[in-house]
Amino acid sequence: MKLARRLQAIKPSPTLALNSRAKALAAQGVDVVALAAGEPDFDTPDYIKQAAIDALKAGFTKYTATAGIPELREAICRKLERDNGLRFTPEQVLVTSGGKQALYNFCQAVLDEGDEVLIFSPYWVSYPDMVRLAGATPIIVATREEDGFAPDPDAIRRALTPRTRAVIINSPGNPTGAVYSRAALEGIADAVRGHDCLIVTDDIYEKLLYTGERLGISDVAPDLVPRLVVVNGMSKAYSMTGWRMGYAAGPRPVLSAMQLVQDQSTSNASSIGQKAALAALQGPPDTIAMMVTEYRARRDFFVGGLNALDGVRCRMPEGAFYALADVRGLYGRPYKGKAVTGSLQLSEILLDDFRVAAVPGDPFGAEGYIRMSFATSREVLGKGLTRLGELVQALR
Ligand code: PLP
Repeated sequence: MKLARRLQAIKPSPTLALNSRAKALAAQGVDVVALAAGEPDFDTPDYIKQAAIDALKAGFTKYTATAGIPELREAICRKLERDNGLRFTPEQVLVTSGGKQALYNFCQAVLDEGDEVLIFSPYWVSYPDMVRLAGATPIIVATREEDGFAPDPDAIRRALTPRTRAVIINSPGNPTGAVYSRAALEGIADAVRGHDCLIVTDDIYEKLLYTGERLGISDVAPDLVPRLVVVNGMSKAYSMTGWRMGYAAGPRPVLSAMQLVQDQSTSNASSIGQKAALAALQGPPDTIAMMVTEYRARRDFFVGGLNALDGVRCRMPEGAFYALADVRGLYGRPYKGKAVTGSLQLSEILLDDFRVAAVPGDPFGAEGYIRMSFATSREVLGKGLTRLGELVQALR
């Protein structure tokens, strides 16, 4: 059957694919250690659920304005001012069905064929494909683990062209867990300052920090705020992945165009979800603090365990909930008569023979690595480490 040409350049999300395979195995009764999903294992806090129940009972079940209910857009403005020192008006805010939709709308709203978007690798898998879906070209700027996965400003300068429409920043980042230092952010700001392009800051992991404070690009370069588009959402900080609640804020013409895309595609995000998001933003900060304390303990345990494995090395992530393990030390070793040569192969062996779902680095622009989420119980993480140890033994 003939399908749209623009889809030919798009790959299905490998994380979603691996995860559904792991889920299918689990449904067959196979005991899979699921470390592939980028999803907190905590339940959504009760006060957030209650807000949705109340909204449902009150019959708050109709369409809302596409951009979201006014009280939520106002609460988002207050949040952005309180946490990020950014002043936006509610007209500059769009409530979306997840941060993913905000990014998708952005690409559809600003990109034309031939346009380019700078993405730093390792990157979240969806960025390049969203850019391609809009007919534009992702330009990958590689970063190095030795530099804390921060981009080299000269590499950014070399990648910028008159066609560059946007640069995407994601700190803490998926899959690296890296949090950019002030110097790293200043380097990015200096590189893009003279160039007429938008700056997208995907702040979805901003609350999940394990070593001190996080700065945003706007903290080090307030002059760039007029071209800043902030993307954020409830999924990670409030354990609300299934609710699909996110938002974007930025220059009014961009946000109006993003709203137009949403007007003609999905309209408003779920009405009761918006009430829940409002409750989340107004809730006590200790809910997040409690989760972060637990994630930190899990990170220390899991990353410590990974580094004890022969052939595996893992940088301690400063944020988010991913361990990006360097597995190149395992490459070249034989498994079932065949040498291990890549992360895709290793992830398959792990799932098929050791019942561990881990995502290969390759689709994240991080060949040589596998990504595992530590947003799961210490018991599951311990089991994962045991099985990874079995794999390492088998590869001797
Ligand atoms: N940005 C990054 C870097 C992510 O890892 C994710 C989810 O995995 C998202 C955005 C989107 O999350 P959601 O659509 O659930 O808000």
